[in-house]
Amino acid sequence: MGAGISILGIFVADTAYLAPRMPAVGETITGSGFSVGPGGKGSNQAVAAARAGAQVSFISKIGRDTFGDLALKTYSEAGVTPRLVIMDDQPTGAAFIYVNDSTGDNAIIVYAGAAGTIGIDDVEAARQTIEQSAVFVTQLEQPAAAAYRALDIARRAGVVTIFNPAPAEAFPDEIYGLCDYIIPNETEAAALVGFPLNTLEDAKRAGDLLLSRGVGAAVITLGARGVLFHSAAASVHVPAVTVGPVIDTTGAGDAFVGGFASALGRRMDPLGAVRFGCATAGIAVTRRGTAPAMPTLAEIEAVIV
Ligand code: ATP
Repeated sequence: MGAGISILGIFVADTAYLAPRMPAVGETITGSGFSVGPGGKGSNQAVAAARAGAQVSFISKIGRDTFGDLALKTYSEAGVTPRLVIMDDQPTGAAFIYVNDSTGDNAIIVYAGAAGTIGIDDVEAARQTIEQSAVFVTQLEQPAAAAYRALDIARRAGVVTIFNPAPAEAFPDEIYGLCDYIIPNETEAAALVGFPLNTLEDAKRAGDLLLSRGVGAAVITLGARGVLFHSAAASVHVPAVTVGPVIDTTGAGDAFVGGFASALGRRMDPLGAVRFGCATAGIAVTRRGTAPAMPTLAEIEAVIV
């Protein structure tokens, strides 16, 4: 087991269009703003963990194109080591994001492109990177079979495993037993357990069910209400961290996962790592964007008392 963090996931270029409404099929309307930036849950988590002070390798696939260049620039600026297959016959992933310019409501299409082809062979090619890390993290934006194989490799090598079951897609039940930590948000946890998480008691019941399926601990993120850390030894509600006006909560979950992973990588105890993750996310929500909103180690340490 090594010192760093390895993350398997996808990169997409987030292309955000501001407009007064969604155009109807066959219609063209004039927008009021546009931005393009790095996105994808795994990629955002990698940037968050690196900015929070960890040595991070990001395992993924991109195309040989302009959005691929954006991915590489993102990793070089954040200090993430890219372990990327660059494909000639697939585009880099991209997301179309419509944002209503008065309500902020959005509608999104994500196409994973090259990262949608991540398979077991690709994971096997990254075996050494996974085995040599202290902590491994993955999600469900790339095929579940790849997540499963990577978690299995990490577990067999004694690497701490974190599974963020997002988006709420189906995955093999055997994955539960490979997770030291499963980190769903309320919606994802509800999809996994089959009932809504309206109260903290509901979240604890969901945590119990996830423990019974074989995870080491359930770390359920509850938006502005913080996090429930639920293991056989302890069930603790950790409040969210408020450092200023909330500007944009997009990517809050990724900030939490990245911060939590980086803290575990530095051998922080799990509850300390949850507090560190909440501080990371609490700062990120006061800034616009996802990857660019991730705070540095010094900024996080300044808000942890
Ligand atoms: P997203 O999909 O927007 O990335 P998520 O739904 O995966 O987020 P949340 O549970 O909404 O994840 O948020 C993750 C963590 O971020 C929370 O546990 C909390 O620590 C922090 N957070 C979210 N919203 C706020 C807020 N308004 N103020 C402070 N912290 C917040």
